[in-house]
Amino acid sequence: MQIFEAKDVRLSFVRGHEVLRGVNLTVLRGEVVVILGPSGSGKSVLLRCLNGLECIDSGKIVFEGVDLNQARRMAALRRKIGFVFQDFNLFSHLNVLQNITFARVLLDRISPAQAQEEARELLARFGLAEKERARPNQLSGGQKQRIAILRALIGNPDIMIFDEPTSSLDPTMVREVLNLVEEITREKRTILLVTHEIRFARKVATRIVFMDQGRVTANTTDIEGFFNHPPTEGIASFLSHVHR
Ligand code: ADP
Ligand code: MG
Repeated sequence: MQIFEAKDVRLSFVRGHEVLRGVNLTVLRGEVVVILGPSGSGKSVLLRCLNGLECIDSGKIVFEGVDLNQARRMAALRRKIGFVFQDFNLFSHLNVLQNITFARVLLDRISPAQAQEEARELLARFGLAEKERARPNQLSGGQKQRIAILRALIGNPDIMIFDEPTSSLDPTMVREVLNLVEEITREKRTILLVTHEIRFARKVATRIVFMDQGRVTANTTDIEGFFNHPPTEGIASFLSHVHR
């Protein structure tokens, strides 16, 4: 079953300069789709379009059968999408438990007691139980991002979208966040992940999509084939530069 379908999506912020130049992408339930590509190729903009945060110029985005251009209750649709940003975006004046439960109570109309129970279960499962009263400024970057992931995960969204979740972290903290993402990929969830962590991508992806200058230039489920025999010179060059 299709979760997302993007068809010939075009978008320009400045007239005459398209940032998305006819993007096609389908995400099926249960897939772990990893988007790779150089900076500025339109990865983040595409994710923002999928989440209804940008209006596209032409083409179509369908989420679970609903055309986003015609969606009347975008906020309700968005609750089915767990979005994790590069720079965490935690509420600095709320503690960990409040950060995780805030939208669950306000938007999903779940009782505070139940939302707290769900949050505590997640915190315990991922080894963060003792942090529930901490404020974001008392947490390391890796802890902040792990909390942001749990905040996106609560309520069991139909898809988890990660936009370079480890890019703004100190290198010593990348592993703990990738471990958490990897655990989530094992839960048979649908995941769309932008990352430059090539080895991680190779390990968890069920589909690799490569974006370059606003276009999808590769889209394959042959993960080993993609890395062993990159489909274009440009992709081979990109991979050799980001490989560690
Ligand atoms: P990346 O693949 O690194 O995530 P982005 O999707 O962030 O790339 O950006 C793609 C292009 O769109 C870049 O040239 C960027 O400068 C431009 N862009 C992104 N957001 C905006 C915006 N809000 N206004 C104008 N230009 C933007
Ligand atoms: Mg980006």
